[in-house]
Amino acid sequence: MPLSESAHGALLVARDAFIEQQDYGIPDFKSVVETHTVEGTPERAAWDAHILALTDALEDDKPFPEAPGSTATAASGKKKKKSSPAAAEESEQQKRHTRIRFQRKLDLEGAPAAGEVGPGRTNKQQVGRKRDTLVDDLIIEEKEVSGKDKAITAVYCIACDHRTSHRNPARIKEHALQCPDVATIFPTLFAKLVQTNADRGNGVVPPPKVRTKQKEGIVPGNSLPAMDVDQPLPDASSSTVKEYFTPLKMTDARQALLDLALFQLVICAALPFSFVENPWLINFLLIAAPNYVTPDRSAFFIRLITEQLSAFMLALQRFLSQRVHLTLSFDGWSSRAHDEIYTFHTTLPSRRSFLTAGHVFKGVSVTAAALFDVVEKRIFSMFAAVSYSAVVGDGAANVRAGKKLISEKYIWIINIYDPCHNLNLFLKDLGKIFKAELGIISAISNFFGQSNLGTAQLAFERARQGINTGMKSASETRFGTTYIQALAVKLCMPALVTCVAAGTIIFATKATKRLIPYLTPGATHYGFLAQLDCMVKLFEAGANGITALEGQNTTCADVFYVWVTIAWHLNKLLGDLNAGLVSYRDKVIEVYNARFDQMMTESSHGIFLFAYFLHPLYFQHGGLKLVMPALKEGEKFDLEKYPELFKTFRNSARAILKGEQTRTGKKSKSDADRLTDQLVRWAVGLPPFHQRVYAVAGDSPLEYWKGLQRDSNADVLATVAIIVFSIMPSELCDERTASLLGWINAARRSSMTPEHLIATAQLSQWYKFGLTEGNYTHSAAANVKVSDVGSSSTVASTPSLLDLLNDDNVAPQDVDREALEQALFNQPDPYDLAETERVIRSSNRWAVEDFVRLDSESLKKLIAPEKKKDADVVALSQAPTAPAAATDEDWEVDD
Ligand SMILES: [Zn+2]
Repeated sequence: MPLSESAHGALLVARDAFIEQQDYGIPDFKSVVETHTVEGTPERAAWDAHILALTDALEDDKPFPEAPGSTATAASGKKKKKSSPAAAEESEQQKRHTRIRFQRKLDLEGAPAAGEVGPGRTNKQQVGRKRDTLVDDLIIEEKEVSGKDKAITAVYCIACDHRTSHRNPARIKEHALQCPDVATIFPTLFAKLVQTNADRGNGVVPPPKVRTKQKEGIVPGNSLPAMDVDQPLPDASSSTVKEYFTPLKMTDARQALLDLALFQLVICAALPFSFVENPWLINFLLIAAPNYVTPDRSAFFIRLITEQLSAFMLALQRFLSQRVHLTLSFDGWSSRAHDEIYTFHTTLPSRRSFLTAGHVFKGVSVTAAALFDVVEKRIFSMFAAVSYSAVVGDGAANVRAGKKLISEKYIWIINIYDPCHNLNLFLKDLGKIFKAELGIISAISNFFGQSNLGTAQLAFERARQGINTGMKSASETRFGTTYIQALAVKLCMPALVTCVAAGTIIFATKATKRLIPYLTPGATHYGFLAQLDCMVKLFEAGANGITALEGQNTTCADVFYVWVTIAWHLNKLLGDLNAGLVSYRDKVIEVYNARFDQMMTESSHGIFLFAYFLHPLYFQHGGLKLVMPALKEGEKFDLEKYPELFKTFRNSARAILKGEQTRTGKKSKSDADRLTDQLVRWAVGLPPFHQRVYAVAGDSPLEYWKGLQRDSNADVLATVAIIVFSIMPSELCDERTASLLGWINAARRSSMTPEHLIATAQLSQWYKFGLTEGNYTHSAAANVKVSDVGSSSTVASTPSLLDLLNDDNVAPQDVDREALEQALFNQPDPYDLAETERVIRSSNRWAVEDFVRLDSESLKKLIAPEKKKDADVVALSQAPTAPAAATDEDWEVDD
C-alpha cells in the first residue's frame, strides 16, 4: 500500500533534517520512518535502505541519493520547468556569484567600497529550524533543477565555488576550514570559523543539544546471560562510593567529554570510523556509561574532526608564533584512490616536526605555481612567513621550482634540496655499474619474498650455518635499502648454495631457472660473488651516509661531512690493490663529482659547505683547506689578501644576513661590515675564538653559537650561524608521515577521504605527543660507519619495516603465473636506474678536494677513530688551543 502524501511529506522533512542537521542523527530519522511506514512493507525496506545510503553518502562526500517516492506524489506530477541552455546559465551564475562574493567581502571584511555593488545576500531565512549565520556567510545558495526535474537547493563555497547539492552545515564548515580561498579572501570570516569550531572543541561553548535516542546493543550468542541494561542504578544513600559516581544523569559536558574520549580512541588507535557503531562497543558503553548516547558515525566524525582540527590549528599557531627559524618541508604522496596529496611540515630548531597541513589537489595539475599558492594560502595565512627560515623538498621538478618561487619572494627563506634524495641518486648512479648483478639480486630476493617454503628452508639452513641475516626486500624509492638487500644475498650465499645443491630449494619455473648457475659452484657463481663483493663495498659509505642523515638531529654541516666521509672512504677503497676495485676508480669519481656538485649548487648560499666551516668540530678537525694569512688584533682587514674560499664563505654569510635583515626589517650596513670582521676572527682564531673550547660530546653547534650572541666580537656572525644550525636540511618528516598515511589508508580505511586521512594523522600526532620542543640528544658529528677495507662488510642494523609490508605484495593465485614471474625475476631495470640517466663530466679527482684535504690526519681521526682514540677526539676538542695562525695543525698551513 503506497504511503499517503502527508506521511511521505513527514519522511521528506525528516530526511532534510537528517542531512542538514548534524545532530539530528539516525535514531530520530529511524523513529520517523517507523511511525509512518509499516514493518515488512516495501516502503519500510526502501526507507531503511535510504537511511544507510544517505549515511554512506555523508561519509564519503558523495551526492545524496533521491528519496524513495510515494505513489501519491509521483502521480500528481510536477510542472516541468524549462531549462535554458546550460552554458549561458552557468556564466550568468558565475557573474552573480562574483557580485555576491564582492558584496559579502564588503559586509564581512570591510573591504573598500567601490562604485558598483551587486545585490545583497540572497539567503532567505527558511521557516522552522534556527540557522547558523556563520554557515550562511560561508555559502551562496542556488535553487537548481536536478536530473529528475526536482527543485533542489545547491550550495556553493563563498570563496571558490565548490558545489555541494545540499545545505549540510558540518560539510560546509569542513570544506571552508581547508579551502585556501576562504582563508585568503575572507580572513576575518575564516578566523571566526576556526575560533568557533575550536571553542566548541575546547568546551568553551556547550556542544549542540545531543540526540535523545540510545542505540541497542547486541545479545551475545554464547551462553552468557543476556545483560540487563535497564537494571536500576544504585542511589547515593545505599551504595558504595564507586557506585555513587556512576552518573545518574548525563550532562551536556559529560556527554561531550565521552564523545571526545571515544573520538580520540578511534583516531589514535587508527580504528575504522564504523567502530563507533559496532554493536559490541555499544554493549560495552551501555554497561560502562548507561546514559551515554552513542553517536552516529557520519555526523559524529565530521563535527569532531572540524572542531578538533580548528583547536589544533589555533594551538599550533600560538605555539609557533613564539618561535623563529622554522623549517618548512613538503612532499607529494598519492593515496590508494590516486588522490594527489602534499604534506607540509614545520620543523623546530630543536628538530620536533608537526604535520602543519595536507592539501589534496583535485583535478589540478600540481605545478610549481600551484604549490607556491598553497604554501601562501594555507601555511603563511595561518603561520607567519617570517617565522620560517628554510624550505626543504626533494628533486621533483615542480617541487624544485616551487621552492625557488618561495625563496625568491621571501628572501630570508633558504632553499634546501633534500640531501637524502641526492645521496639516493648517487647510489643509483653507482648501481648502474652493476646493473646485471642487481637484476640477479632482485630476482633472488623476490623469490624469497614470494616463497614461504623457500624462506623456511633457507632459515633452517642459515640457523645450521650460524648466519643471522635473512633475505631482505628493497624499497622502490630508497636505493639505500638495495645495499641492505645486496648485503643480505651476499651473507646468505653459503646457505643458498647448500639448499640448491641439496634440492631443498628448487628453481624450476622458466623465469627462475636462470638463477641456478649463480647459486651453484662454477664460473658464473664465482664471477657473481666477486662482483657482489665489489658492489657491497662501494655502496657501503653512501648507504650508511643516508642512514646517518636520516637522524633527527642532522645539521647542514653534517650533510657536507657525509660527502667528505664518502670520498674519504671510497678513495681509500679504490686505492687499495687488495680490494680489487682499482678499475672502477674513474667511473666512481665521475659519479661522485656529479652528485657532489648537485649538493653544492641546488641549495641556497652554498649552505652545506658554509655550515661545515661554521661548525666548531668540523672547522677544527674536518680537514678544511682554508689557509688564512696571519692577522693580529687591531690589524686592518684587506679582502684582497684573503683566499677565494674565504670570499665564498663571506658571500654566504652576507647573503644570509641580508635575508635576516629583510625578515626583521632592521637594515644595517654597519652590521654587514662587522660580519666580515667577525668572520675573519672566526677563521683566524682571534678572540673570542682564540680558545676553541667546545664541549663536543652532547653539545650542539646551535647551543655553541647561542652562547656568543652577546659578545660584540661575535654577535653578528652568531646571528647568521644560529640560522644555519636551526634549520633542518631534510624532509624526512614528510616521508615518515607518508608511511603513516599509507598505513592508515591501507590497513583499515581504504574508503576514507584524503582530507580525513590527513586530519587523522594531524590529530593523532597532537594527542599523542602534544606541542612541545621534543627531546632529541645531539651528537657532535654525524656517525657514518664504514668497515675496514678488505674485511667482510658488517650489517648496520636498520629497522625492517619493509618486511611488514610484504603481506601487501602477496600475489593472488589466479593471475598469469609466468608473466608475474617474468616481472618479478626478470625485470630489465628493477631499481629504476634509468632515472639518473645523463651526461656526467669526466674527472679523476674528487670534487670535494677543492675544499677539504682527504689526507688530513685530524680528518682521519674524526672519520675512523682508532678504538682507544674515541676519547681523544673529545679531549682534543675540549683542550684550549693557541691562536690558530700560530700553531693550528689542522689548517695545514704549510702548503
Ligand atoms: Zn572553497
